[in-house]
Amino acid sequence: MSVDSGTRLLLRQLPSVDELLQEPSIRETAQELPRWAVVEAIREVLERCRRMIANGQSGSAEVTLPSRAEVVAEVQAIAKRLNRPTMRRVINATGVVIHTNLGRAPLAEAAIERVVETARGYSNLEYDLERGNRGSRQEHVEQLLCRLTGAEAAFAVNNNAAAVLLTINTLAEGKEVIVSRGELVEIGDSFRIPDIMRRAGGILREVGTTNRTYLRDYEEAVSPASAIILKVHTSNFRIQGFTNQVPVTELAGLGEKTGLPVVEDIGSGALIDLSRRGLSREPMPSESIRAGADLVTFSGDKLLGGPQAGLTVGKRPLVERLRRNPLARAVRIDKLSLAALEATLRLYLDEGQAVARVPVLRALVMPLQEIERRARYLRDRITKLASDRLEISIIEGSSEVGGGALPLETIPTRLVAVQGVHVSAPVLEERLRRTDPPVMVRIKDDRIVLDPRTVSGDELDMLADLVVAAAAA
Ligand SMILES: *Cc1c(COP(=O)(O)O)cnc(C)c1O
Repeated sequence: MSVDSGTRLLLRQLPSVDELLQEPSIRETAQELPRWAVVEAIREVLERCRRMIANGQSGSAEVTLPSRAEVVAEVQAIAKRLNRPTMRRVINATGVVIHTNLGRAPLAEAAIERVVETARGYSNLEYDLERGNRGSRQEHVEQLLCRLTGAEAAFAVNNNAAAVLLTINTLAEGKEVIVSRGELVEIGDSFRIPDIMRRAGGILREVGTTNRTYLRDYEEAVSPASAIILKVHTSNFRIQGFTNQVPVTELAGLGEKTGLPVVEDIGSGALIDLSRRGLSREPMPSESIRAGADLVTFSGDKLLGGPQAGLTVGKRPLVERLRRNPLARAVRIDKLSLAALEATLRLYLDEGQAVARVPVLRALVMPLQEIERRARYLRDRITKLASDRLEISIIEGSSEVGGGALPLETIPTRLVAVQGVHVSAPVLEERLRRTDPPVMVRIKDDRIVLDPRTVSGDELDMLADLVVAAAAA
């Protein structure tokens, strides 16, 4: 038989899409899963078979096509994968509290309720119920932000990068932005202060050096071309040793003398003083305002623990200019984020309530005793179910704030270290990424480690079961 006719014979043996759709076990699958997914899965499997045949023809390898049962199983698996949402809940056992890749801040229950209610129906998003006419979506958060930061006006946009973009575009388009060389930071892989500034139309006027910048450096840079003095919090790194940065109070003095607005991007922005709760200080918008900054920008979903948002607070005439910039529409905050933001900010009206209910804060101030308790619970459950396959111990370690906040801060924690008897740590880590829901862990000294700080109480049982299952697979 010629190679060609052998190939043709094999190709003829392949069932058609319709034939497979009629196959009883696949018809059953099609009842649980949408037909489009099953059809696409069948096409994918048949295409793979055709490729196998073609490869067999060019090489000399014997082609063994999968059996009917194998084809069916593969179709089921692929259809199931196609039908599953790609963005899914994961269990964060990394101990990184504000994990940008894992969606930053989980929302407070109160915020979730407001999101659901707002999503489900209509709302007075931009309608003034008192006066019976058009209102501003900003009204739902402006007073709260003013109260919590001491500012006279506030404006919420899509995220902090947008807040910086809007601010520079509004106040400094075609003019100079005076900024210290030590503050030209890159936050994450797509946000560089100098890039944003250029895109916003501002002209970068760098002053000082990477490690030391003095007030006189700023003073010497002031010219008729200057528009604003910008201070950027070096959120995700620290320059240590021989350094000098100019505090906002001094910049505010220069701003007053020269008539230039002083803008501070504090990045994370904590609404409560974390240093009173065992963590290091992170800049607070209220402090910047008190120190004399004209505008302060910060994120909604970092230490604040709310939805993705960018918040600008400060002097009313400047905020009014932001509001009137046509770009404001392009970066406006959506109603679901706004609902979550309002609810989260309301929790901050009572600091104790915020610490008890905002998940990010709760995780950061979680007592070591509570972490121990959860670690022991995890250890005991995993041991009970899989003592033959896994070696478990509780070790000391550290959690991270993440999200570019408090980069040097490591918070003491307890880790559940898990070592497979038959599987290596990288294999276990990969299997855990493929469980449902996926589990994100760290690897430390050839063991995977689970940090209970970022695992909610009602996830503990599931986490233990998934680890056990991953060890067995
Ligand atoms: C995180 C951060 C940003 C960007 O904020 P997003 O809310 O992620 O857009 C901007 N500036 C600083 C200093 C930051 O730390």
